[in-house]
Amino acid sequence: MVTQIASELAAVDEVTMPTTIERVLADLIAHFDVDFGYLRRIDRERKATILVAEWPRRSAPDPDPLNVVYFDQAYSPFHAVEKLTEPMLTSAESYFDQYVTSAVVPLVMHGDSIGLLGFVKHGDWAWSRQELAVLTVIASLLAQSQARVDTEARLRHLSTHDELTELPNHHSLFGYLGQRLRAGRPGPVAALCVGLNGLKLVNSYLGRTAGDDILRDVASRLREQLELNDMIVRFGGDEFVVVPNRPMDNYSAELLASRIKHGLSGGVTIDGETVSYGVDIGVAVGIPGDAPADVLRRADLALRAAKTQDSNGVAVFTDTLYEQFELADHITLNLRSAVSDNSLVLHYQPEVDLRNGRVLAVEALVRWQHPTRGLLLPDIFVGVAETTKLADELGNWVIRNACAQFADWRRRGFASDVVLRVNASPKQLTSPNFVERVEQALREHGLNGNSVCLEITENVSVEDLSRAHMTLHALKRLNVQIAIDDFGTGYNTLSHLKALPVDTVKIDRSFVKRLNNSPEDRAIVESIIGLAHEFGLEIIGEGVETAEAARTLLDLGCHRAQGFLITRPLPAEEIEAHLNTMQIPFSLEHRRSGRSE
Ligand code: C2E
Ligand code: CA
Ligand code: CA
Repeated sequence: MVTQIASELAAVDEVTMPTTIERVLADLIAHFDVDFGYLRRIDRERKATILVAEWPRRSAPDPDPLNVVYFDQAYSPFHAVEKLTEPMLTSAESYFDQYVTSAVVPLVMHGDSIGLLGFVKHGDWAWSRQELAVLTVIASLLAQSQARVDTEARLRHLSTHDELTELPNHHSLFGYLGQRLRAGRPGPVAALCVGLNGLKLVNSYLGRTAGDDILRDVASRLREQLELNDMIVRFGGDEFVVVPNRPMDNYSAELLASRIKHGLSGGVTIDGETVSYGVDIGVAVGIPGDAPADVLRRADLALRAAKTQDSNGVAVFTDTLYEQFELADHITLNLRSAVSDNSLVLHYQPEVDLRNGRVLAVEALVRWQHPTRGLLLPDIFVGVAETTKLADELGNWVIRNACAQFADWRRRGFASDVVLRVNASPKQLTSPNFVERVEQALREHGLNGNSVCLEITENVSVEDLSRAHMTLHALKRLNVQIAIDDFGTGYNTLSHLKALPVDTVKIDRSFVKRLNNSPEDRAIVESIIGLAHEFGLEIIGEGVETAEAARTLLDLGCHRAQGFLITRPLPAEEIEAHLNTMQIPFSLEHRRSGRSE
């Protein structure tokens, strides 16, 4: 019998343990002709014994008072066994009004008992020494297999859980989501990606333990706010994922996310100091049949959106979001090579005198001739360049190439009285060798500083302002002109104008567009023009699309303009025709649509 039990136990694992033990117990009680057998494990941390299996099964109440029995619990039938290392026999004692005899054999491992094998017989019973010897062997087999199963379980726990927060980790998440998303299961299945803000900052200023405290705090607050069966996972450094147990559509998932976000905006006290933190949450919903990785990727993209947009820190995945990020990722990956392999091109848009159509300047506007996506406009990739440290490379490319083109026109007798306008991003203004690059480009192509104007927007951040000042003054020393672009959309506009060495102001096209429909916008444009005159600055109206807008600008005292009414930005070859005549024909008359006279 011992060998049979030994081979049965050799194959046991955490899942098959209870039924295997039941079988072993059944064999043993039949063999020894007793009435009841059980196996309990000892949990030293909880100071308790826990039922593993019994045979025959009792019809126990729920909860079963014998499931977990603490050593110090009153009336504990296992009072005496806490330190047991030898078999213990009790003879006929009253137990629930019955006289029973029992034998308890400890499962000993390294001198410590880790469990109890017990038998009960109604009435008197005497165990022979040989029987007890057999039981001791069996108990030691059980001890070995329990220790092995425990180790396996601990290893599994370690590999499926995060040590710091005790939450399941990404391995568990994939397994769990895989089951939830199996075809035919109830859906939709929501996934919420919860991103903690500023953990890096906390780690570097307050130390890693402070960061750990915050992570544990987030974990326990998540647990408090969610239902018992909701899956909460530590997904990475500063991310958690929540998969609600019940099926949930986008709308309910977003509500849940807002609730969680609200409940998580708090702080922890570290060394007597309250450190506050916040989270952003991205929401995606999968339907059974979807791949877990896809659903998580969508939730992660939504989290990226939640971090960047004015979304109150909660964003739901949409196809548009996907396209945006897909494009942004693509751009990030490929922009550097686009700069170096001449995929970028410059188009030029003239600026004219509205009174006579004379060309006064051309603005270089960058485009990306993409092999599969066609001609990409700068709004899509200039921002990406700024966030990926490519702003300098892109900016230098533009300045070099615009100057080269301009010099070429001049050599061929065009554009002698025309100013070249080049856009510079706020990032460039604070870059250390920007001025040097401009100077180099001018010198290389024999251009005079005052035939080039750099256009800057107002959105230079306050910290960078003094640096931007220095750059602008250095540019002035090269005689380069400076224009403020998109004027009226930033803040501090007035103070900028006073403090910066500016020659020209370009009225943002949004005001020009509404010039004839909105009295407020007309008033703004009027005051910008007044201001410019007062400071002795040139003023240009951007985005002039209609003859009416052009007439109004003229009425208000602004005669320089740029816009689709005159011409769209054009490739260099096409702009040459205009530079040749130096005159662009357009009409200030209201065009009557459809009727020829
Ligand atoms: P921006 O400097 O304000 O350039 C004018 C933009 O307005 C151009 O868009 C032009 O096509 C558009 N536009 C011109 N006339 C009209 C009109 O009548 N109606 C409308 N609706 N739009 C008009 P584009 O070329 O797409 O450039 C967008 C922005 O990208 C530029 O705005 C500028 O801020 C930036 N950008 C362009 N090229 C460069 C560059 O080389 N470097 C940097 N840093 N930024 C650039
Ligand atoms: Ca511009
Ligand atoms: Ca502009």
